[in-house]
Amino acid sequence: MNTHPLLYIVIPCYNEQDVLPITAPLFLNKLNELISSGKINADSRILFVNDGSKDHTWEIICDLAGKDPHYIGITQSRNRGHQNAVLAGLMEAKDQCDITISIDCDGQDDINAMDAMVDAYLDGCEVVYGVRSKRETDTFFKRVTAEGFYKLMNWMGAEVVFNHADYRLISSRALQELANFKEVNIFLRGMVPLVDFKSTSVYYERAERIAGESHYPLRKMLALAFDGITSLSVKPIRMITGLGLIIAVLSFIGIVWAVVSSILGRTIAGWTSTVCIVCFMGGVQLLCLGVIGEYIGKIYLETKARPRYIISERTYEKDAPREEAHSSTEAH
Ligand code: UDP
Ligand code: MG
Repeated sequence: MNTHPLLYIVIPCYNEQDVLPITAPLFLNKLNELISSGKINADSRILFVNDGSKDHTWEIICDLAGKDPHYIGITQSRNRGHQNAVLAGLMEAKDQCDITISIDCDGQDDINAMDAMVDAYLDGCEVVYGVRSKRETDTFFKRVTAEGFYKLMNWMGAEVVFNHADYRLISSRALQELANFKEVNIFLRGMVPLVDFKSTSVYYERAERIAGESHYPLRKMLALAFDGITSLSVKPIRMITGLGLIIAVLSFIGIVWAVVSSILGRTIAGWTSTVCIVCFMGGVQLLCLGVIGEYIGKIYLETKARPRYIISERTYEKDAPREEAHSSTEAH
């Protein structure tokens, strides 16, 4: 841990020309405040990630970068979505800094929570989650759908921190580990906890958007939830297996019932055989589908090639690989 960490504030921006000129100076003020209070290194930066905006966002970022050396920016050739934009920024920053804080550019997340985040880092945490204490400024609909989102995610086996979006501090050490998660469908809220270094939460009140419009309508939120669940958990497949088992048992009961009815002579010709075949096929098919699904689930998790272990602490400093040892053995 560094006692005077170099901070990169990572800010994804998509079509934010209305809001960026208002919030960028607020971020700079905060950065200067943190620098002058001696909490962070004076070379800290505000890194804007333009996510293929179609308006003048990139021009605004370039303009800002020309005005103050603390502002820097990168741009993506096309819109890849919020999660990818944040990841691009974090990966860009990870070798340049000691800590990163990712935050939305619309002023909804309280920048004053950054002090507590940096303090928590100085206390030894590698990851600090910004958690919304209340959602009073959100509309009833947004609140219910957003909170339902977290409950659904957890119920489906994708562990996420309740009411935490993508406002968080991550140390560069944790980012080095995150870089080993090679998956393409990314859901940072679920991936960061997988790194599982020492973490804590700070609470803040979420404000209303300063200008512009939300890019997360219900449709996109559902898509994000679906993405999160399917990229973190194979529970939906398990549910098919479970359903297959239940249907198989019910089918067995159905077959017994059909045969007994036939013996008792309460049926018309052909009914028993039809019911038996339908029940048998239904049960067997769903059960087999579940078993195949289990294997697909395993293949799916394997293809992600996630790290198999993450070392969080050592009693010694790890050096760079021994070049000399290698070259001397190669000479033989
Ligand atoms: N964003 C992005 N790419 C996108 C959509 C959004 O980089 O495709 C950024 C956006 O500029 C903002 C943040 O992600 O900084 C959160 O988006 P928004 O405020 O629209 O979401 P909400 O806060 O309403 O959930
Ligand atoms: Mg927002």
